[in-house]
Amino acid sequence: MRMSRCLVVTGPERMEMREYPIPAIGPREMLLKVEMVSICGSDPKKYQGTAMWAVEWGGMPFPFILGHEMVGHLEEVGEEAGRLHGVRPGDRVVVEPYIACGRCRYCGSGNDQLCTTRHTYGFSRSCAEPPHLWGGNAEYLFVAEGSKVHTIDPAVPAEAACLLSVIGNGIRWIKTRGELSFGETVVILGPGAQGLATVIAARQAGARRIIVLGLDRDRLKLDLAREFGATHTFTVEETPQIEAVRAATDGEMADLVVECTGASSSIALAPELLRPLGRCVLVGSMGGGKTAAMATDRWTLKELTVRGGLGQAWNCEDATQILNARQVAIEKMITHVLPLGRGEEGMRFFMEGRPDCIRVALRP
Ligand SMILES: [Zn+2]
Ligand SMILES: [Zn+2]
Repeated sequence: MRMSRCLVVTGPERMEMREYPIPAIGPREMLLKVEMVSICGSDPKKYQGTAMWAVEWGGMPFPFILGHEMVGHLEEVGEEAGRLHGVRPGDRVVVEPYIACGRCRYCGSGNDQLCTTRHTYGFSRSCAEPPHLWGGNAEYLFVAEGSKVHTIDPAVPAEAACLLSVIGNGIRWIKTRGELSFGETVVILGPGAQGLATVIAARQAGARRIIVLGLDRDRLKLDLAREFGATHTFTVEETPQIEAVRAATDGEMADLVVECTGASSSIALAPELLRPLGRCVLVGSMGGGKTAAMATDRWTLKELTVRGGLGQAWNCEDATQILNARQVAIEKMITHVLPLGRGEEGMRFFMEGRPDCIRVALRP
């Protein structure tokens, strides 16, 4: 029996390398040999067992294999899966994080991220039971029916390819949830990977001004934001947020704010940065059911719209085009790469939040 080496989360803040058998692949399934997987900003909470889903589910499904941002090569392709996805063994693909049941009202309306089964690679199923290989932090990933895959040009660096769904998220906040029009001004709060992906999407969507606000310690990220198309970057230590947006927009303020920090002070600030009839997409999660206090008068008096932003369903195809065009050095967002066997060290390093670290990726 062939085995796959996997980095398994065995309990809160405990990981170890284990081997699981590679399952037989059915006609609607595929097997991916993982080339690279990045540690998502949402992974530390799963590793610690405190992710919001854990609260809803009554705990994480230990033991499980983390990892939902992966690129690799298809090693086995079921006959029907090959026809459905237009792929063959050997193809280089990214598998989207969400696995759609295809039957619930959310899958039916193209909102797989809200599928009632809540099935996602990298944490929703234990690896104790076959087919075991539900996470990207492994040599092999079992690609279940209901997955979506995107073919990636061999010339695209793995560091860029594994971030496909992150770019898809940015496109979702800007295009689908943010409804940005050509020539509008967007303010992005927080220049982490999600904020940077939002910059890329905003640039593609024809934003006139892309204003990114961060902290002094975010200098590296703000420089990258500029490279990706931000027209203005500010650190809040130097220029308070409202002043910064006022200066950059000649007092007009923003059409759209994408809040990526999840900090209550930042969420409370969003309505102050918007013009009347502006929109805000809340992306950052505080986790644990925390609340943010805000002056609700602003929302009323300016007739603002606030929307939540979760996943990238149906925005990954746009992201694939951006990746394959290779006009943006997306790979620069992966600042550190470690072998899979040192994955726990990589996780702990990522959680330190050092200023020189944007994203950490693992190579099986
Ligand atoms: Zn992710
Ligand atoms: Zn569904």
